[in-house]
Amino acid sequence: MDIADKLIQEHRLTKDEGVELLNSWQDPAVADKLAAEALRVRREVYGNDIYIRGLIEFTNICKNNCFYCGIRKSNPEPDRYRLKKDEILDCCAYGYKLGFRTFVLQGGEDGYFTDERLTDIVKEIKSRYPDCALTLSVGERSYESYKLLREAGADRYLLREETANEDHYKRLHPSDLSLHTRLNCLYDLTSLDYQVGAGFMVGSPYQTMENIAEDLVFIQDLEPEMVGIGPFIPHKDTRFADFPAGSVELTLFLLSVIRILLPDVLLPATTAVASMIDPEGRVKAMLAGANVLMPNISPIEHRKEYTLYDNKEGITSNAESKLKELKESMEAAGFEIVFDRGDHKTLLKSTSDSETDELEKEEKKKKKKKRRRKRKNRKTNKRKRKKEKPAHQEPEEKQAASGKKEKTETKKG
Ligand code: SAH
Repeated sequence: MDIADKLIQEHRLTKDEGVELLNSWQDPAVADKLAAEALRVRREVYGNDIYIRGLIEFTNICKNNCFYCGIRKSNPEPDRYRLKKDEILDCCAYGYKLGFRTFVLQGGEDGYFTDERLTDIVKEIKSRYPDCALTLSVGERSYESYKLLREAGADRYLLREETANEDHYKRLHPSDLSLHTRLNCLYDLTSLDYQVGAGFMVGSPYQTMENIAEDLVFIQDLEPEMVGIGPFIPHKDTRFADFPAGSVELTLFLLSVIRILLPDVLLPATTAVASMIDPEGRVKAMLAGANVLMPNISPIEHRKEYTLYDNKEGITSNAESKLKELKESMEAAGFEIVFDRGDHKTLLKSTSDSETDELEKEEKKKKKKKRRRKRKNRKTNKRKRKKEKPAHQEPEEKQAASGKKEKTETKKG
């Protein structure tokens, strides 16, 4: 049996199988087969429905220096902004009027948003819009902080692992950031019962097919409710300015693979996909298995300052006309945008008995929790063992950590 058929039948991949599959991404026959299956599976779970999220980019202030990111701390270029509570609430009011029932608060790791301030905002949004889901995407925080935010009413959390390979992680981040911490955050969020979103950039600098296969295996094991992937796009003021952008075609291929691995996953056609081939980009992503769109409802005057990468899509379009345009293009492709919270659906085998349904759901949830606990224990033990060994750091990363290289590059930019 070839590897694509195996994936279709078993909904699982080992790392080696992932690499083998990825080596055929440029073969249209394989890509088409996977896309057709992804679409079939997606229809089985979500019909032709497309969920929408109103994206609010509420701060571009960040304490981190991720090498790929345009709003990293050491970039002097963007004018920094931070929305006031009232401005965030205005975005929600506007989004609500347009029909959005999920708001996503995304931003840099901005110290101003302490637990107290952020929980206050979360509570206010949830009390004004109890029929809406609230997603946070504000990076790494402590378990206690995630807990407070969850208790305040946050429903979902997006935190891409960026890469599941430790060495690759080090090549994309300064040494004060670690994959270890990133993954722990994901496990914390999972244990707090958030609907969790993981994910990675496709074609990020130094990424190999092995790395992508590792991400696929990581995602299939974590079983997040959402997966965000998009092509890496270079930003002129970063050390990766001259690296090539990731491939949209490979991204589409991976959307199909992820849909097949996790049939009930919420899978957005990300802005990065649209930025490279709008307007067909989003339709192509849907045809490859995606089922979520995240139009920007942030104030237009700040959009150009939230440049994670160059030529970002949607900098000037207002949400109302964007939504209209999306509705039309999605309908033309046979999909329908629905105006509800668009929660994750647990895939159930077809049965007419709703009681069995409920039992199965409970059973599935329990099993998932158990698997996650086991995995977390395994990781902790592995880390404990590793701690005994000295930490490995490459010369290049040392230089980056000292900030030397950062300075030269800033000048260059
Ligand atoms: N501070 C938050 C939000 C980060 S921005 C956090 O740490 O999670 C959201 C995502 O944009 C990132 O997770 C990253 O995968 C993506 N991103 C950043 N720079 C990018 C680039 N140059 N090209 C493509 N995607 C990028």
